[in-house]
Amino acid sequence: MSRVVVIGAGVGGMSAAARLAKIGHSVTVFESSDQVGGKCRTEWIGDYAFDTGPTLLTLPAVYRDFFLKTGDALDTVLDLERVDPSFDYRFVDGSRVQFANLSRYETLNQIGRFFGSQSRDDWNQLMLRAEKMWDASREPFIESELRSLSSLMKNHNFFHDLRTIAPWKSLHSLTRQITKDYRLQYIADRYATYSGSDPRKAPAALLSIAYVEEAFGAWHVKGGLGELAKAIHNRAIELGVKFHLGVKVREISENGRQVTGLVLEDGTVIPSEIIIANADASQVYTTLIKSDLHILRKPRKSLNRTTPSFGGFSLFLGVKKRADAQKINHHTILFPEDYDAEFDAIFTRREPAESPTIYICAPQDARMVKEGGGQNWSVLVNAPLHSSSGAGWDWGDKEFAKSYSEKIIDQIESRGISIRSQGELLEIRTPADLQRTTLSPGGSIYGTSSNGARAAFLRTQNRSPLSGLFCVGGSAHPGGGLPLVGISAEIVANAVGPA
Ligand SMILES: Cc1cc2nc3c(=O)[nH]c(=O)nc-3n(C[C@H](O)[C@H](O)[C@H](O)COP(=O)(O)OP(=O)(O)OC[C@H]3O[C@@H](n4cnc5c(N)ncnc54)[C@H](O)[C@@H]3O)c2cc1C
Repeated sequence: MSRVVVIGAGVGGMSAAARLAKIGHSVTVFESSDQVGGKCRTEWIGDYAFDTGPTLLTLPAVYRDFFLKTGDALDTVLDLERVDPSFDYRFVDGSRVQFANLSRYETLNQIGRFFGSQSRDDWNQLMLRAEKMWDASREPFIESELRSLSSLMKNHNFFHDLRTIAPWKSLHSLTRQITKDYRLQYIADRYATYSGSDPRKAPAALLSIAYVEEAFGAWHVKGGLGELAKAIHNRAIELGVKFHLGVKVREISENGRQVTGLVLEDGTVIPSEIIIANADASQVYTTLIKSDLHILRKPRKSLNRTTPSFGGFSLFLGVKKRADAQKINHHTILFPEDYDAEFDAIFTRREPAESPTIYICAPQDARMVKEGGGQNWSVLVNAPLHSSSGAGWDWGDKEFAKSYSEKIIDQIESRGISIRSQGELLEIRTPADLQRTTLSPGGSIYGTSSNGARAAFLRTQNRSPLSGLFCVGGSAHPGGGLPLVGISAEIVANAVGPA
């Protein structure tokens, strides 16, 4: 039986650990925090539970596959709920549209009713293209190890698929080619933010996320998305995986060709020839591996050429229970007047946007509120990464965070949603908090962004040139977000193979 060690108990690390235990490995996980789940957590604050990380599960098949392949089916351990409407999109000109979950027909009806027949036809065109992109990219770009462009070129459909995916085109330019309705452009552009990217730099292929969300649905996990992390943790324990919480890994040791083990923060040496790193890839290659090995020049160079995903500024609000309390849909998006200005602020000037897109998540889930409580709203806006040395925004400034939260609340109220008269709890979280709790560099939400036509090829590969080292999670291939992180765990488990 081989001994596998995992650095980090995020969703990717734990999923890989459970899959590897299932195929006969003896697996031990070292996690620096005193909790498992990494970014995927549900936290009780007062009478309310908040998803402090993911609030939406798409492509649940990834986790259905995980639970089935490692034991009992997902439905025996989690209660998934369809969210309908999937999204309520609101615009500054007062127009609004609600997308139906799992029904293009109904979504097109809604678009036709509120934006007109041309817009309805445009959205259909966008989804037809998105579906083709998903079909072309799913197997070679997402579900397999992505090694190089030349390996992809051996595929006999390569040139046909290339035309569909159009890697030379940005998401922003593709959407503008298909529709003149700025509202549909904004809705489509927003899918770039599912990987923390700028739609003007992210490849057009990210439109496929819109198709995935429509075809496989938008889901809530009853009790909060953190229940998914807990269920994966439980499954790993059932399979014999050992967890050491509150234990930070300081170093990955190697002999020039092959990993030899871990050195923990207190100096303890853990020998192992198979290491799964769920820590951010930049930490793996710049901090944990100390030596300047020639074979690591390529992954290090690629990392330097990637742009990290942006961070998130969150407000967690407890809203009083009142007879006249306004109900808002589970996922509400308040678009600003100028969407591009948000990306200029975050990526170019590295400062918080004056008028960012505001996402309000208001789950109607009795398990997330104590008896007699009102509603729990999580408000999330995209934000520049934390840095106290000028490379980002200094989110350590608590006074600024407070005044920025007031600005966001003003903007929500100006759109007719009252908070101040109803709120009884407000907790602020910045990218600096995410960095502290999950060691994510600068508080990046999704690892590396998809900015740039070559982003997928620059993202850290699952199999390192250093033999025995594998990278899993949002900063590794195929990228961030729960579905991709779950896929990366499957790719890594397959790459390691049975004991
Ligand atoms: C605010 C927010 C909103 C999001 N919304 C969504 C959403 O709606 N839908 C969606 O699908 N995704 C969403 N995501 C993204 C999703 O949460 C992540 O992609 C996913 O949870 C990352 O999993 P991971 O496996 O990469 O590990 P991470 O969650 O990054 O965990 C890595 C773990 O490794 C540990 N670690 C790091 N270094 C060391 C070390 N040296 N020693 C020991 N342990 C270490 C960390 O403490 C951490 O627990 C969101 C994330 C955030 C923060």
